[in-house]
Parts: sequence; structure tokens; C-alpha cells
Amino acid sequence: MANNDPSFLKSVEISFERAARLMDLPPGLEEKIRVCNSTYTVRFGVRLGDKMETFTGYRSVHSEHMEPVKGGIRYSPHVHQDEVEALASLMTYKCAMVEVPYGGSKGGLCINPQNYTTEELEQITRRFAYELIKRDLINPSQNVPAPDMGTGQREMAWIADQYSRMNTTDINARACVTGKPLNAGGIAGRLEATGRGIQFALQEFFRHPGDVKKANLSGGLRGKKIILQGLGNVGYHAGLFLSTEDDAHIVGLIERDGALYHADGLNIDDVFKHIQATGGVKNYPNANYIANGYSLLETDCDILIPAAIESVITSENANNIKAKLIIEAANGPITAPADAILRDRGIVVIPDMYANAGGVIVSYFEWVKNLSHIRFGRMQRRQEEHRSRLLVEELNNMFQNSKMNVKFSESFIDRFLQGAGEMELVRSGLDDSMRLGYQAISEIWNSRNDVDDLRTAAYLVAIERVATSYASKGL
Ligand code: NAD
Repeated sequence: MANNDPSFLKSVEISFERAARLMDLPPGLEEKIRVCNSTYTVRFGVRLGDKMETFTGYRSVHSEHMEPVKGGIRYSPHVHQDEVEALASLMTYKCAMVEVPYGGSKGGLCINPQNYTTEELEQITRRFAYELIKRDLINPSQNVPAPDMGTGQREMAWIADQYSRMNTTDINARACVTGKPLNAGGIAGRLEATGRGIQFALQEFFRHPGDVKKANLSGGLRGKKIILQGLGNVGYHAGLFLSTEDDAHIVGLIERDGALYHADGLNIDDVFKHIQATGGVKNYPNANYIANGYSLLETDCDILIPAAIESVITSENANNIKAKLIIEAANGPITAPADAILRDRGIVVIPDMYANAGGVIVSYFEWVKNLSHIRFGRMQRRQEEHRSRLLVEELNNMFQNSKMNVKFSESFIDRFLQGAGEMELVRSGLDDSMRLGYQAISEIWNSRNDVDDLRTAAYLVAIERVATSYASKGL
């Protein structure tokens, strides 16, 4: 979408400054927090077939107020330094916002993964990882990447293996990267984490009737009309959980090759299978196809979930947005001028920094699991089940002896006896983090007259925490 709106990085800085103006930071600290500490650019060659191809990649470290620093690696032909730095700074604020003890970082490789075979991608990923590892820009105690757009479990497994090969005696090698498959040291629930976090964020929003009213909405998630952009990792899981578990209707889906609309709601799994089989949404039989996909951003709905790329809502289309609530599943989907327009129009935005933090929250759990070398729940699960069984049996005996005509239903007993495995614990930790995060920003939004949106509230929470961290370091 061509327009004159500021870049993603500039938009992040504008939001940052808007919040910083409301704070009383010591002189110079505002700039120290805002600027990106370092960006490493690497150009490396890989021999593919009979020809050498040169690739450009980046790893930015925004803030080391806590270490390791953390942030995904993106594969896209549009990756550039400005974008990587914007994403790295968002990571700093995101981690602070949801109390994950990391500084912010981000990486990117200029590549269209669709143009390469799996073997070629492995070669390229390993070479990129080699360049970063040898400079400690991938390291369990210093810099821990994760997946982002265009990368996933497969790439993370290659990176982890590359690190292990180069650090054969590092017992914590697996903690050098998160988002790995389970068999390579991953954690249950990481794949779904960001989408699951979007669901938990919306559930928590709808537990705040005052906030729901501010968005000119009422009730809960049930029956809400949602338009979703992007059916990748984040969009797929968010859409799936919201439609199958909360009974919301995903009425519209925007993808690269157009959009789908169905007033009663799309079957997300069905659409996902169609995309996997055909490469796009076109020719999906059970919905209306709209060639100009972006027009659906402006279609009437309750909730809009941009879950693809940045800068899709700009000063050009912000006035036409009809959603009452926007939750930023993608990073930076709304430019700063568009954000101001939406604010003036009373459209509530749940900001990226909080909304899509589910991925980094569960990445944190994965890193802790890797460092502790044991699956969550392994020690206590059966013990919990044993204690619950004792309780149920004792109560049943009491009911019988007292001749009371009551007993627990089988389904209650089944559910009650189940100890928490890794997936249950991860979801519980994620839910808790998302609830607390929302409560922190909602409180500021509702209690301060000078804060009129959730984004500013989120920046206030994050900057305050980063500043406190700097202060305790004597800076
Ligand atoms: P992904 O590559 O799995 O999926 C992106 C999806 O968006 C794909 O289906 C793609 O076809 C679609 N898309 C790309 N360009 C589009 C366009 N112009 N119009 C419509 N659809 C388009 O990526 P992802 O991991 O789901 O990430 C999506 C967004 O969420 C990114 O902004 C990313 O930074 C952010 N994010 C991801 C995670 C994570 O854990 N994966 C965590 C936090 C934030």
C-alpha cells in the first residue's frame, strides 16, 4: 500500500515519544531507551547448484537492559534494516509489558523462501546461523531468536543444530533458540502460542465491560463478527480458537491473492487446507471470493485482526475502517497517522506490543525448560492425580456411609483427576500473563485523563519497567 505515512520504525518512535512525554524520565534516559543499540549486517554467499548466491541478513539488538535479548528471525524479500530495528525495539517493550525478563532483538534475511527447495533453505539457514553464532548473536545467555514471518519450527531446529555443532560442550545449547519442534527441545503449545495469546487477550478485554462499552460493543465474544488478515501461524491459530472455542464468526479472511467472505462465518480449518493445497484462497468453494482483498479491511465487522504484515492500515484507509475493535496480531499493522485517526474515531486498538506477546511468553517458558532440562509437569503430574483420587474416593465413601443419595459424575471425576501436563501448564502460564498484561494497561487507560488509548498505556507500562531496570543498573 503506497502512501506517505512514516515508516514502521518511525511509527514506533512516534508512539514511544507520545508516551514518554507523559512521563518524568531523567534527562537523556528517554533517548537511551528509544535508540537501537546495534545492528549487525551480514552478506554471505551460498553455493546453490552451480552458482553462488549472495544473501543479506540482519540482527538488531535494541536494548540489553536484560539479557539474553530475544526476538524472531524473519524471512522476507522486504526485510530491511529499518524494519528489523523497529521490530527489535517493539520486542524490548513487549517483553517489559508482559514481564518476560529479556531485552529486545530481531533478525531478518532478505529472501523469498518460496523460491528455494527445502535443502537449499537448510543450507542458507545454517550459513546465516553460522555467521550470527560466531559473533554471539545467537547464544543461550546472550541472544535467543525465535520464528517470525516466513520461518517456523523447521528453521529453528536447523539453527539449534548448527549451534550445537559449533558448541559441542555447551550443555545449554538447546536454549539458543526457541520455537523448536518438540523432538528438538521445543515446548508443547509454542506453535499455537501467539494465536492463543490473541484469544486470551480478547477474552480478557471482554471481561472488562467498561472497556467493551468504550469500543461501542456489548456482551462477550460469542457471535462477534471478525475479519482476519493473514492465515499463517498467528492468524490460523487465532481464527481457529476464536471460532471453535468462543463461537465468534470469522466472516472475512484476507490473504495475499484476495479475500473470502461468508456472513455466517468461515470454517478456518477448511480454508487453511485449501490454501495448503492450492497456494491461495482463490477458488475456495464455500465462500465469496473478492479479488481486491484489501477492500475487506473496510468491511463492516465487530473485530478486525490484522495478522499478516505491517502498515496495512494507513492514513489512506483509516477513515473507512468500520470495525469497532482492532487487535494487532501482526507487528505494526497500523501506521502512526492511522492510529491517530482511529483514536479520534473512537475505534479501540489493542496494541501489538501486548496483543501478540503470546509467542515470546511461551518462548520464555521453552527457554526455562531447556535450561532446566526437564519437561514441565513431569515431576508433579502423577502426584497431583494421586492426591485428587484420594480426595474423590474419601468423599465417595463419606457420601455412601452417610447414605446421602449423591455421587460425583464420571465426567467430573475424569476432569478432576487429570494432573496438569506441559500443555495445560503452558496455557495456564500464558493465560495468566495475558490477563495481567491487559489489566495493567486497562487500569492506566481508565484512571489517567491524559491517556486516551491502550497503546499509550502499554508504552507507559513498558517504558517505566525498562527505566526501572536501567536505574537498578546505575544508569
Ligand atoms: P506467517 O508467515 O506464518 O504468516 C503470514 C501470513 O500472512 C501468510 O499466510 C501470508 O500468506 C499472509 N500475508 C502475507 N502478506 C500478506 C498481504 N499483503 N495480505 C494478506 N495476507 C498476507 O507469519 P506469522 O508468524 O503468522 O506472523 C504474522 C505476523 O505476526 C507478523 O507481523 C509477525 O511479526 C507477527 N508475530 C508473529 C509471531 C509468531 O510467533 N509467529 C509472534 C509475534 C508477532
